[in-house]
Amino acid sequence: YCGMVAIVGRPNVGKSTLLNKLLGQKVSITSKKPQTTRHRIMGIHTDGPSQIIFIDTPGLHIEEKRAINRLMNRAAASSLADVAMVIFVVDGMTWTADDEMVLQKLQHRNDARKIILAINKVDNIKDKEALFPYLNQLAQKFDFDEILPISASKGTNVQRILDMARESL
Ligand code: GDP
Ligand code: MG
Repeated sequence: YCGMVAIVGRPNVGKSTLLNKLLGQKVSITSKKPQTTRHRIMGIHTDGPSQIIFIDTPGLHIEEKRAINRLMNRAAASSLADVAMVIFVVDGMTWTADDEMVLQKLQHRNDARKIILAINKVDNIKDKEALFPYLNQLAQKFDFDEILPISASKGTNVQRILDMARESL
């Protein structure tokens, strides 16, 4: 079993932290290829017969006027083709216009077998009940295969994401 999983989301939601946690989880890392932040960062996760290539997208930028942003958008969008699963990472506290734009791109390109929503930084949220209205709102925007509250830095539910990635191959 071998396949690609893309991690998408606006800057600063915790994509890179999640990638590192996913690769550090339990298993051996055969290759980790950091490039500049303007390019894709990939990590290969090997576990028995399965090999998952995680792609940390360089962030989708609303501003397309500058050539570099156009290029970055294209790189991020192309990484959504041929992936077994997309992990859409958002911040548990804030939804912005940038998140909305990433979601729109997902709606246009939903050829991935699975799209999951990872609501990150829940360790920051004292009152977990406060999450529910936000969660419901997001569930109505898109038919996600799964909505998972996570903490990329603490590792909460990261194993669950890994299991779903493996199942999506
Ligand atoms: P990226 O731009 O989406 O790749 O985001 P990064 O992984 O670079 O993280 C952006 C910031 O959020 C950093 O300061 C991280 O330490 C912080 N961060 C990431 N994940 C978590 C989390 O689960 N909880 C908390 N409290 N902070 C996090
Ligand atoms: Mg990053």
